[in-house]
Amino acid sequence: MIEFHHVEKYYGNFHALTDINLTIAAGETVVLIGPSGSGKSTLIRTINGLESIQQGQLIVNGQDLAEKRTDINRIRKNVGMVFQHFNLYANKTVLENIMLAPRLVLHRDETDNHKTAMAMLDRVGLVDQAGKRPAQLSGGQKQRIAIARSLAMHPKCLLFDEPTSALDPEMIDDVLTVMKGIARDSSMTMLVVTHEMGFAREVANRVVFMTDGKILEDDPKETFFDGQPTNERARQFLSKIL
Ligand code: ATP
Ligand code: MG
Repeated sequence: MIEFHHVEKYYGNFHALTDINLTIAAGETVVLIGPSGSGKSTLIRTINGLESIQQGQLIVNGQDLAEKRTDINRIRKNVGMVFQHFNLYANKTVLENIMLAPRLVLHRDETDNHKTAMAMLDRVGLVDQAGKRPAQLSGGQKQRIAIARSLAMHPKCLLFDEPTSALDPEMIDDVLTVMKGIARDSSMTMLVVTHEMGFAREVANRVVFMTDGKILEDDPKETFFDGQPTNERARQFLSKIL
């Protein structure tokens, strides 16, 4: 589903990703952690082509992103992304936010589009907010709308970049509950940058630790939390966030 083979990424002269090798199978949930500036956002953004790579192979749903012929829009149809700051359209209602991309990108029929949008709102527990605008919602509600919007595209894969780190503590659980539900009861492939280790413990298959643009540890969840990571920096980092 997602395969990195010896991927290198530069911002100008700055080497942001070094020899990234990572495979995420269909349906897996992988949590990506690491210190600030280690390249987590960069890595996740390469998967839907928001950042280009300079070397190596990056295969998403069987298509190689480094290939010039690859249609990035086709990849993006199947790869949803949820950001720290929601990125909702401020001048549109919740319902319009969710219905826009399926209409424009998938040309989904209006009745079906509405039905799907309401079903996704139901899934994140916000059916009653359909007519509101983002400014009228709490942070936690906005993030759940952003998740519903991604889900409405029926992607194969969902990427989350610190989806709860801009939220007040009391709203974090609502968002994590929705994310856990997606991880548990669907075939969705999820790559999640988060320091919410409760989430990782409950639903992740693997935990990947990176620093300085390199992956230092890629462990099954059990190894990571119980068996101790082999890498010293990963151990230190883990002791700080647990
Ligand atoms: P954080 O936990 O703070 O979000 P991160 O692990 O997501 O950090 P990235 O945002 O991927 O880290 O950044 C990795 C490195 O690449 C950092 O040193 C950052 O300064 C650099 N970087 C990120 N984006 C750019 C850019 N557009 N141009 C130049 N350098 C960049
Ligand atoms: Mg980041």
